[in-house]
Amino acid sequence: MDCITGETLQVFFLGTSGSLPTVSRNLPAIMLKWGSCDLLFDCGEGTQQQMMRAKCGLSVNSIFISHWHADHFLGIIGLLQTMSFQGRTEDITIYGPEGVFEIVEDMRQICRNISKFKFQIERVRVEPGDIIPFSGFTITVLPTDHGVVGVGYLFQERERPGKFDRERAIELGVKPGPLFGKLQRGQEVTVSSGVETITVTPDQVLGLPRRGRNILYTGDTRPIHERLRSYVPDILDLMIHDATFDTSEADRAREFQHSTAADAGIAGTALNAQSLALFHISPRYTSIDSHIRDANHVFHGEVFVPPDLSMREIAFPQ
Ligand SMILES: [Zn+2]
Ligand SMILES: [Zn+2]
Repeated sequence: MDCITGETLQVFFLGTSGSLPTVSRNLPAIMLKWGSCDLLFDCGEGTQQQMMRAKCGLSVNSIFISHWHADHFLGIIGLLQTMSFQGRTEDITIYGPEGVFEIVEDMRQICRNISKFKFQIERVRVEPGDIIPFSGFTITVLPTDHGVVGVGYLFQERERPGKFDRERAIELGVKPGPLFGKLQRGQEVTVSSGVETITVTPDQVLGLPRRGRNILYTGDTRPIHERLRSYVPDILDLMIHDATFDTSEADRAREFQHSTAADAGIAGTALNAQSLALFHISPRYTSIDSHIRDANHVFHGEVFVPPDLSMREIAFPQ
């Protein structure tokens, strides 16, 4: 899939509840918008209406499902149906762990008019360790510990070329214009001063490469940061972690194969997250104060519990 590179990287929290919806939180769904590319991670029931409310558009390129618990995927059929009504012709890919072929086949059986859609639904089975390349970024598939076959996902933007030193280029005799573009794209250029011809190489005018932005989504899981360590880069700009329970219900979290807010905080610290979004909040909580408090005890970056329909912009690292 080709995307038009953009400066913007936006995360729309479309549904942040766990297991059951509430009046203020819908079932799991996160939209990540990078340039012209829209990626949807999980698609709980009612996600399409959340997309309309959040005004993030319905032109999803790919859907990544973490596991086949119903709170994470029942919104797919309705979303596809609406896309078809809107005249979509571009194929869509659904990535998911074992079961993706069967579940999409079941959807075809349930919703007979899928066969009349003017776009294809591609299915890709993923497993931990897979790296799915896109133009400008990769998606790495991560392990989970949730008692069922499931995965998490890591969005990793490719390194960007170093900063272009305009003054230095002019000093070396390069005139502003197309030659600047060539150097910025990593190509060498030749310039003539009338007396001599010299070659200017990109390393003379470009700073060190700059790291891309990284976002990790755990899906539903018990604490698993030790196993995630080998998959993740040195810094995560944002970690979206299962935090179904607060610490007072740590036993319940273990029993139901989820994490507490403190578990999420420990993972955030271990994996050097700059920002931590607590996600998949059990409907039993009417306040998020205990979640924030528990995570803050063990994590010193920014902690937040995103409200549904909120959007977070991830800036380029300084
Ligand atoms: Zn869930
Ligand atoms: Zn689950």
